[in-house]
Formats: sequence, C-alpha cells, structure tokens
Amino acid sequence: MTTPRIVILGPQGAGKGTQAGFLSRRFRIPHISAGDLLRAEARRGSPLGQRIARIIDRGRLVPDELMSSVVRARLRRRDAKRGWIVDGYPRFRQQAKTFNRFARPNVVVVLTLSDQQAVRRLVGRRVCPNGHVYHIRHHPPKQKRGYCDHDGLPLHQRDDDTPVAIRRRLRWHHQQTDPLIDEYRRQNLVLEVNAHPPIKAVYRHLLEVLKNIPWLSSRLKKK
Ligand code: AMP
Repeated sequence: MTTPRIVILGPQGAGKGTQAGFLSRRFRIPHISAGDLLRAEARRGSPLGQRIARIIDRGRLVPDELMSSVVRARLRRRDAKRGWIVDGYPRFRQQAKTFNRFARPNVVVVLTLSDQQAVRRLVGRRVCPNGHVYHIRHHPPKQKRGYCDHDGLPLHQRDDDTPVAIRRRLRWHHQQTDPLIDEYRRQNLVLEVNAHPPIKAVYRHLLEVLKNIPWLSSRLKKK
C-alpha cells in the first residue's frame, strides 16, 4: 500500500499547521512541522539550539544542511514509516533537491492566500510553548482565554510574528516558494486549495480534492 507522503505549502497564515494537524489525525500519520522541530531544539538550549534560536528570532532561515538533518532525523523515527505530512519544509528548490535525497513526497498540498489576509491573520496568531496554534478571533482557545486547550499552558505571540518580520517572510515566500510550487506542479504532485474560507470549510475542500487521488481515497473511506 502506498503511504501518504505529503508536503503542505502556502504562505504564513494560510493555516498549514492547522490543516496538517487535521490530516495527521485523519490518516494517522505524524505531522512534522519544520518550525516546531527547530523551536524544540532551541528550547533544549544546546549550542546548536542557541544557534537556531538566534536565527529564528531574526526571522532568518536555518542553513540547508542543518534543516535537512533535523527533518531527516525526524523521518527516521518509527511513527513516520506509515507516512507523514511535512509542513514548513522544503521551502525552496534547493531544499527540495536535498529533501529528495532522503524522502520523496507523493502529494503536495498548496494552500493559497492573499498577502493582505496573511498579515491580518498572523498578527492575531498565538501559540503555546508546545506549538499548538490559535487565533485571537478565528480560532480562540475554547476553555480558558489566553491558555492552551491541550496542555493548559499560557499562549504568547511568537517573536517572529511582528508585522515587519511577517512582511519579510511573505516577500521571501513569493521569491523562493513560488518557483518550488511550479516545479512540483510540473511533476504533477500539486493539489491547490483556497485558504480564504473558514478553517473547517478549507478542510472539507481539502478532503474532497484528496479523494480524487485513487490510492488516497481508499484510505479516506476506510475510516
Ligand atoms: P515557522 O514555524 O514555519 O514559521 O518557522 C519558524 C522559523 O523557523 C522560520 O522563520 C525560520 O527561521 C525557521 N525555519 C522554518 N522552516 C524552515 C526551513 N524550511 N528552512 C529554513 N528555516 C526554516
């Protein structure tokens, strides 16, 4: 049986992490977030973690070899044998080339969102230290305001969610990720989903397009 090896792409604020989380539960495969892997390493406070923390805080990109080795180590873990969904990696063609040396996606989900909407969403984003993501208006915590529903930890705004850092990332996204999407499109791997509607509507649409892939549709029916 083919295992789902999904890459999810789209600008910051498109809801990649949220939709990847839904798909992860639906397919029972791990959701591997490049940003979360890096933040986990940064929290460890090792020399490597400190180096990563400095890069992230400035809104810069972690070097290719470092990024790929972190993702590679994660994909080697047992739970990733049944498939995976990777979010936040690869972001540009060089990273995709490196990625191809140790893993090959068979579906690339592209979430589309205007820049204006992306900025609006990101300034309202709040996260817990374990990476669960909320939005003050669109997706507030249900149990206690300002606290994570999953682990009760206080939510905060990420250092790199300031308007200046967001606009820098969006500019970069268009320059670097658009050509990557074009390349995956040429390989016939891309499924595009409009990310403007509310979260649940985007997810429904995403499932509809995934059902058009014969080997994935049988896995979706089995649930
Ligand atoms: P994210 O949680 O996806 O917004 O990522 C947070 C930060 O981690 C980014 O601003 C980068 O500094 C770093 N990062 C995440 N993904 C990558 C990647 N694919 N390549 C290099 N750096 C990355």
